[in-house]
Amino acid sequence: MARDAGMDYESFYRQSVEQPEVFWAEQARRIHWDTPPKQILDQSRPPFRRWFVGGTTNLCHNAVDRHLAARAEQLALVAVSSETGITREFTYRELHREVNAFAAVLQSLGVGKGDRVVVYLPNIAEAVFAMLACTRIGAIHSVVFGGFAAHNLALRIDDAQPKLLVCADAGMRAGKVIPYKPLVDAALNEASAPPPHVLLVDRGLDPQMNRVPGRDVDYAGLRARHEGAEVPVAWLESNEPSYLLYTSGTTGKPKGVQRDTGGYAVAMAMSIRCIFDIAPGQVMFSTSDVGWAVGHSYNVYGPLIGGATSLLYEGLPTRPDPGVWWGLCEKYGVHSMFSSPTAVRVLKKQDAGWLHKHDLSKLRWLFLAGEPLDEPTAQWINAELGVPVVDNYWQTETGWPAITLMPGLEMKPARLGSPGLPAPGYKMKVIDENTGREVPAGSKGVLVLEPPLPPGCLSTIWRDDDRYVHSYFSHFRELLYSSLDWAIRDADGYTFILGRTDDVINVSGHRLGTREIEESVAGHPAVAEAAVVGVKDELKGQVPVVFATLKQAAGAGAADVARGMQQCVVEQLGSVAKPARVYVVGALPKTRSGKLLRRSLQALAEQRDPGDLSTLDDPAALEEIRKALERGPDQEN
Ligand code: ATP
Ligand code: MG
Repeated sequence: MARDAGMDYESFYRQSVEQPEVFWAEQARRIHWDTPPKQILDQSRPPFRRWFVGGTTNLCHNAVDRHLAARAEQLALVAVSSETGITREFTYRELHREVNAFAAVLQSLGVGKGDRVVVYLPNIAEAVFAMLACTRIGAIHSVVFGGFAAHNLALRIDDAQPKLLVCADAGMRAGKVIPYKPLVDAALNEASAPPPHVLLVDRGLDPQMNRVPGRDVDYAGLRARHEGAEVPVAWLESNEPSYLLYTSGTTGKPKGVQRDTGGYAVAMAMSIRCIFDIAPGQVMFSTSDVGWAVGHSYNVYGPLIGGATSLLYEGLPTRPDPGVWWGLCEKYGVHSMFSSPTAVRVLKKQDAGWLHKHDLSKLRWLFLAGEPLDEPTAQWINAELGVPVVDNYWQTETGWPAITLMPGLEMKPARLGSPGLPAPGYKMKVIDENTGREVPAGSKGVLVLEPPLPPGCLSTIWRDDDRYVHSYFSHFRELLYSSLDWAIRDADGYTFILGRTDDVINVSGHRLGTREIEESVAGHPAVAEAAVVGVKDELKGQVPVVFATLKQAAGAGAADVARGMQQCVVEQLGSVAKPARVYVVGALPKTRSGKLLRRSLQALAEQRDPGDLSTLDDPAALEEIRKALERGPDQEN
């Protein structure tokens, strides 16, 4: 077992950045290698780097098979759906059986090493089986969040070019069945590289589900045929890809974040123990969807590699009642819980009595991530739960927390508003966006990482090394990874995140690029130009608000077009992206160089001062916006 017991945060962190090869060689002992690494770090081609070169391992083996000797009868996965009312429990032995059957099914459909498999499933056990079955045989999974609409799915299919798509008949939300299959059919119609087969997980929710003969196959039938199969694991070189996960993409085309195998396994094994404080046999409850980065790392790979029990949840935090999560914590003896500030804000609106009804004596920590954690939310949940709240900062790209406290190692005092200190391996700086020089403590700058990125972080963008370099490493003269977030570091190294250097809206924890919504709205035939900004919303964090100008000969009334714009967004991006308000205006405020002044628009929409207007081209355009806001929207949700 790797050395960590009794180590303090400072020495742990210091070694990780000053002697990375010594540090990570030690951490690599946490996982099973079929062949041990020959070289810990290869930095010969920066900003690329390769961890554990020459070592061979397998994610599925480390997450499942490896535990059979010591904990076959321990629960590995508990999949709870408050929508269907069904709870399914799987021991490590049962998980092993399911994953092997799924892997055999994949092989029977022609899926092999290096092939991509798009997984478009709700938060159900089969999503976990599918992911582990892929990594077992060396296929590359690409999970697409079930809330994404057909167009988004099609974009990801065309980029990943999968051999197979796995989907369910339907998901459920707030008691309503949401059919998935029609979205898949539409996406496959639109895609230029549709896979030859679609594997259907039929939950019996949509009796009308359509099946395309020859293309669509039912999982249940194939599973029955392959039950009891034993599929050998494929030993992969540490740097071979394990999975792709697309970011929401502010530039229109989503980026396929590519994860390696060995580095990711080691990062999961270390972080589940040292950050999330989970020891083998303990229970972790992450409320994330498997379609997000948190779901990949802390619903699937982290807890399972760590020999823990992982709780997966489909449903709302408030149904059947606002105590549902706390009831699960009590029933399964959850040790560490992981959720988002949005979810806590929803619960904060409920009677705290729901929380106190349950025995939460086993719960040690509540981790929150994904968006800034505001003080009232942090203080409320901390006081009601009586356990420390650990804010942690990360990105899809990093795959695990970059800034956090490490209760599994040494719990340092938290500072409200800050996720804490750099995680092991992250060489972090806050620099001036113009000069590239480090800013003094207490000053705002761009948060950057010095290469090499630690194990677990993205290795590249799928089939686009240039885009990897260009998107992340080309912002400064020095070769630095830009997080594209503003930050302030205090004198003790606590880092505060101040928001993004680009424009992204966060609606109930879902990240939406304003550019994407703008593109969608502008697709309406009557729209000339549109600007989308995120406007503060008490419940959802932010909501998208549209300001648009119409083409001269549009003919249709403003209200009709506004409604049409909302429809475009719902059809192309999904209902999470639906604009809350649409204003049809005569002109949009722009800079002299023709850039939309989104920041001023947002400020006005939030009844704030529009700020620096020195670059404004036409002051009349701003007046237009003020008047429109006074008059009220042409269409409201
Ligand atoms: P894209 O890169 O396609 O625009 P995204 O950045 O919106 O997608 P994620 O990778 O899921 O999608 O989000 C990472 C971002 O979320 C961070 O860069 C940061 O802005 C924000 N974030 C995450 N955790 C925290 C946190 N604890 N505090 C403040 N902000 C956070
Ligand atoms: Mg991002």
